[in-house]
Amino acid sequence: MHEISLCESIREMLEDQAIEQRFERVRRIWLEIGPFSCVEPDALRFGFDAVMRGSLAEGADLEIVSAPGAAKCLNCGATVRVADRFALCPQCGHAALQVTAGDELRICKLEVV
Ligand SMILES: [Zn+2]
Repeated sequence: MHEISLCESIREMLEDQAIEQRFERVRRIWLEIGPFSCVEPDALRFGFDAVMRGSLAEGADLEIVSAPGAAKCLNCGATVRVADRFALCPQCGHAALQVTAGDELRICKLEVV
């Protein structure tokens, strides 16, 4: 399951940050997920609890924040918000949108001890 490997990389990021920022435990973590990241929030929560067991983020609360998707139209140059990768440009109607944001999965905030 691809969410498990995502959780493993999150755990590694947390371990690195713990050393850099000198904290010992993570109480709560806010993850930002774009609409095109192909992440299933329920699977992510499930994987998160399992992967964080025994780590500095064991028992931490996971808050999932949805990030907006954005695209630029290669035909008219408009920058628009999109929820669908294959959407038509709302300005000119062309299928010329290039996605510029929405693939991300990132830690946006941590509550640590
Ligand atoms: Zn356009």
